Order: sequence, then C-alpha cells, then structure tokens
Amino acid sequence: RSVIARNGGPVPVRVAVRLRPFLDKAQQEKGSTVRGLGEKALEICNWRNDQESLKYEFDAFYDKDTSQDKIFTTSVQNLLEHTLHGQNASVFAYGPTGAGKTHTMVGTSEDPGIIPRSVYGVLNAVAKERGAGDGEWAYSIAVSYLEIYQEKVYDLLETKNHDLQIREDRDRNIFIPGLSEKTITDFQQFEKHFVPASLNRTTASTKLNSRSSRSHSILLLKVVKTQQVSPFRQLTGKLYLIDLAGSEDNRKTGNQGIRLKESGAINTSLFVLGQVVDALNSGQARVPYRDSKLTRLLQDSVGGTSHACMIVNLAPEESFYTDTYTTLNFAAKSK
Ligand code: ADP
Ligand code: MG
Repeated sequence: RSVIARNGGPVPVRVAVRLRPFLDKAQQEKGSTVRGLGEKALEICNWRNDQESLKYEFDAFYDKDTSQDKIFTTSVQNLLEHTLHGQNASVFAYGPTGAGKTHTMVGTSEDPGIIPRSVYGVLNAVAKERGAGDGEWAYSIAVSYLEIYQEKVYDLLETKNHDLQIREDRDRNIFIPGLSEKTITDFQQFEKHFVPASLNRTTASTKLNSRSSRSHSILLLKVVKTQQVSPFRQLTGKLYLIDLAGSEDNRKTGNQGIRLKESGAINTSLFVLGQVVDALNSGQARVPYRDSKLTRLLQDSVGGTSHACMIVNLAPEESFYTDTYTTLNFAAKSK
C-alpha cells in the first residue's frame, strides 16, 4: 500500500497529526500501532492481526516526545498574527476520546497547551503593538467560551444561556446574539473566567460517553482594533480554539438507557466538518457550512481569507486501533 501524498503548497486547512505517549508500562510492552516515518509521514499496523502496514502523509507528524511548545510554535503561533490584523483563524483538536485532544488544547498548569499559550501570545502581541504604535489604534481582547451539544449552542461562561442562535450580519460576519464576552487585559483575568468553566466540563468527562466527549467546546478570542483618528476604522479578528467531540463511533460503545438514543446518532457537526474541510482543501465550489451548527459558526473563520489548522490526536495502544484507522482515513480525506 502506498503513501498518500499531497501535492504541496498552502491549503485552507493544514492537517497535523500528534501521537500521545503510552500511559502505562504494561501497554507499552505490547508496542505502538502508530510509528512515525520522519517529519510528515506515519504508518499504522495492527501487529497482532495484520503484518501489513498502512502509510499516510500529512503537513506535520508529531511523535510522542513532541513538547507542547513545539506544537504551539510550529502549528499555531503564525495564526495569532492574523487575528491582530482583522483576519480570522481556527485550530481544531480531532480524534477519539482518550487520544489527547484536551491535553493538546488545554494541557496542565505545568505543561500548558494551545489555549493558554494562545491567550498569552495574543496578550503579548497586543502589548507589543500598542507599545510600538503612536496611539493611533486602541485594542481590546474579549473571550467567549461555548459548547455545541446535540446541535444546540450553550454558553459555558453564563450557564443560563442555552440554545443560542447563530446569525450572520450584513458584512457576512457570523455572531451569536446573547453569547457572553469577557474583556481581558491580563492572563489572570482569563484564568478567572476560563478555569471554573473548563473544570465544570472536565469533571464529568472521565467516562467515554459523557457529554463532554460528545460535545464541541469552543474558546473564542476576539481582538478588536479601533482607530482613534478619522476614519475611525475598526478591525475585528477572531481566533477559535476547538476541542472537538470524540471521533469514535458512539454506536459501538455499548451505551444503555437514556443515552442510547443520542449516542445512536452520528455527530452531525463532526461529520459536516469533515465535508467542509474536504471541500475547501480539494477546491470544491460548494462548501456545506450550513449543514451543521459548528460549521455555520465557523463559516467566517475556516476557508476564504482565514487560516486553520487541524491537529489529529492519536493513541498508540492496540485497543485504539479501529479508532486510529478511521481517524486517519477521515484526516487523509480532509487534507
Ligand atoms: P481526549 O481529550 O482526547 O479525550 P485527553 O487529553 O484527556 O484525551 O488525554 C487522555 C489522557 O492521556 C490524559 O490522562 C492525558 O493527561 C494523557 N495525555 C494525552 N496526551 C498526552 C501527552 N502528549 N503527554 C502526556 N500525557 C498525555
Ligand atoms: Mg477531552
């Protein structure tokens, strides 16, 4: 079987793959189903059942020893720049539950991930621009944090706001009326809003079939730059940082009771996201943004003049083999 190569050049959505380390020694001895082949390629092999390997190539491959810093500087940092100049960008973590999406996006206080690093980066970049400028522009940074679950939009900062609507203004900007926005001027203010909201989500997330593994959590950083002299222009740049729902097939995880109905449904937004990325990266004329809540929300921040990166998270254990295989085929189609 051959390497699925891409023809080079910038694409609307860059696709990078990250393999997490083994979580315990006993598993490690059985060997990894995923092996890196240099900086961009990898192979997967189900060593017990199939000696044949499948090879894939993406824009980047990060092996198990890759630091959070390396991932941030090589896949995310360049996107921040755009949001400072009125353009939009988005970063997604895709993959099965347990493969490292939340570690990649949030991380820990000792080993912070993309979200804290991006907030820090945007705060610093704004401070730098402000310092270098002559006061012609004023800047403000606002944070929103929301969740899409069962095709409904929930505000994670104000839990009373649920089933919010997604709208488009005359300039084709997408917005959510009623979604709360917190202005931040330093990192502590960000933590004050984000940490409690994200803890609420993750305490319930240990089980494979918990709500958080089936919902998309979305952090939005908005940078508004306003000219202080005529013609008083205003530029808004948005950065979406998204921890996607688990890509595992929820129909196979043996759910029971009230969960059965909802887990029986394929996650609409995740499915449509794949179609949108595929349509954009293969240059198709019709991009089905309107077919799901997530892609509708991202319509002004994926494709067009926006910049996006999808980080596909994989686990090395044999028990993840089927998920690894379906995840890579999704990602290979997306690039
Ligand atoms: P997901 O959000 O995709 O369900 P998590 O981010 O919760 O997965 O990761 C599952 C487990 O693996 C967690 O205990 C997490 O701390 C650990 N983990 C994930 N990625 C890494 C990594 N790169 N290095 C060390 N531990 C990791
Ligand atoms: Mg998670």
